[in-house]
Amino acid sequence: MQLRRRSLLLGGLAAGLPLPAFANAPTGRELALVNLHTGESLKAAYWEAGAYVPDALTAIAKVLRDHRTGQVHPIDPQLLDLLTVLSGRLETKKSFQVISGYRSPQTNAKLHAKSAGVATRSLHMDGKAIDVRLPGVQLASLRDAALALGLGGVGFYPREQFVHVDTGPVRRW
Ligand SMILES: [Zn+2]
Repeated sequence: MQLRRRSLLLGGLAAGLPLPAFANAPTGRELALVNLHTGESLKAAYWEAGAYVPDALTAIAKVLRDHRTGQVHPIDPQLLDLLTVLSGRLETKKSFQVISGYRSPQTNAKLHAKSAGVATRSLHMDGKAIDVRLPGVQLASLRDAALALGLGGVGFYPREQFVHVDTGPVRRW
């Protein structure tokens, strides 16, 4: 677990997001989240003075844990960057409402059995995907902003009222 966390962190630091994405946020990166299943929320300055803040990443991973099993898994810092850029583009300071963050293999298998929309090998299991909505922002606007970034996968779920974003290959559904 420790090794995996380290490699995720290094991966995020080495690759990072294209700088223009952060042109309007030069000083730090802050993310506000509320987990709709647990009611837990946080506002974390997870990037400061040119580096990711380990304590903040730990706190975020806890809020985004698999609420069904309680398992905590590191979250890809680039996914957090993606959300930060999104809220910047949409000019909102509201908290992302999180429907699903990390999913353990057990939970994913259960959800897959119930719904064809859940992949067998989901990026949620790697801490690289999140299902969110933003209060005050049309779901289609959130989807379009995510697509415009061209940074990973974007899934649109109007019936369930969320948008899935991930840091995998660029694709849409
Ligand atoms: Zn998802």
